[in-house]
Amino acid sequence: MEYQAKELFAKHGVPVTLGRVVETPGDARQAAEELGGRVVVKAQVKTGGRGKAGGVKLAADPDDAVTQAEAILGMDIKGHVVRRVLVAPAAAIADEYYFSFLVDRSNRSYLCIASAEGGVEIEEVAHTNPDAVAKVAIDPVSGVDEAKAREIVAAAKFPADVAEAAVPAILALWKAFVAEDATLVEVNPLVKLADGTIEALDGKVTLDANAAFRHEDHAAFEDKAATDPLEQRAKEKHLNYVKLQGQVGIIGNGAGLVMSTLDVVAYAGEEFGGVRPANFLDIGGGASAEVMANGLEIVLSDPDVNAVFVNVFGGITACDAVANGIVAAFKLLAERHETVSKPLVVRLDGNNAELGRQILADAGLEGVEQVDTMDGAARRAAELAAAR
Ligand code: GDP
Ligand code: MN
Repeated sequence: MEYQAKELFAKHGVPVTLGRVVETPGDARQAAEELGGRVVVKAQVKTGGRGKAGGVKLAADPDDAVTQAEAILGMDIKGHVVRRVLVAPAAAIADEYYFSFLVDRSNRSYLCIASAEGGVEIEEVAHTNPDAVAKVAIDPVSGVDEAKAREIVAAAKFPADVAEAAVPAILALWKAFVAEDATLVEVNPLVKLADGTIEALDGKVTLDANAAFRHEDHAAFEDKAATDPLEQRAKEKHLNYVKLQGQVGIIGNGAGLVMSTLDVVAYAGEEFGGVRPANFLDIGGGASAEVMANGLEIVLSDPDVNAVFVNVFGGITACDAVANGIVAAFKLLAERHETVSKPLVVRLDGNNAELGRQILADAGLEGVEQVDTMDGAARRAAELAAAR
């Protein structure tokens, strides 16, 4: 959220005005009183376009701040319900610019996108006036130094009178981008204030989750209320799970296999009135019984799920190990008093498939069917899901 991005910016010396974050109109009044004078009341949600949606309003006095906070709190902006607002001193804006650093995957590099035409949607500017949007490649090894910052200022056509103020702000933004392991740092608008100084008036940051282990403080940025509860539980169990809107629970090993399983199930489901996959879940190679049990538990606890498709291609972890994992998972679930009450279709193929299938057949688990082909198993799972 904007206020979190600004707190992060402040840590690295990017000029910002922090203001107060409040959850009630009463607290908005108090914040406005303490800040004195005109304030801006801004919806704090993880989406852009708040201004256009009416989520950013100026307030002349504390009474007005209450009125604006009442209007903005509870507002739905692109599916995000506003639960808190930022109350900050109203900035005297002289000019608005666009600025961002991001990972440029196609060039295996970093990129700076900047424009003197800020405040509005940058996609719009890129469309109507592409020459106004500068794209400056950044060498990941040498990064951004003062000379590079000046090159960016010139390319973006920032007016000459803000160049001196913009350079240190750009260096600080680069510092924030690198130090926080961000994949995006975006400021729209970066503003020139009436007194000629530069300030980040808005902020959007994407943090690289792969670097979370070295940023304990980043966990606080997660919006637990907005995360799907099943996804939240899966995350706590270190599972690669994404909730979807269908009825066939999916468990597979390997992201590629699971992705194609989603396609195959969706395709098979067309025959049964549009049955679709309920989730993505990759339990990875070398999945233990515990991982299988955790995966089953999450998928089975999804009320939308009518049937589960376990699609495993034995590689380094052979099918017999996976079959033993499924059998052990059923035992584990029984111990946790989570009886499996939904039908399971299992397809085992690849390394030691015969042995794996035999182990599953011998176990005689209730509600478990085996189908030897991926298409056949997908069709059967869709059929079972449609029948319930
Ligand atoms: P977004 O619409 O979600 O990107 O939210 P922003 O934080 O970028 O705000 C949208 C617009 O509101 C900005 O481009 C500014 O024009 C305006 N705005 C935001 N804060 C202030 C402020 O403190 N004073 C003034 N005058 N305008 C502001
Ligand atoms: Mn903005």
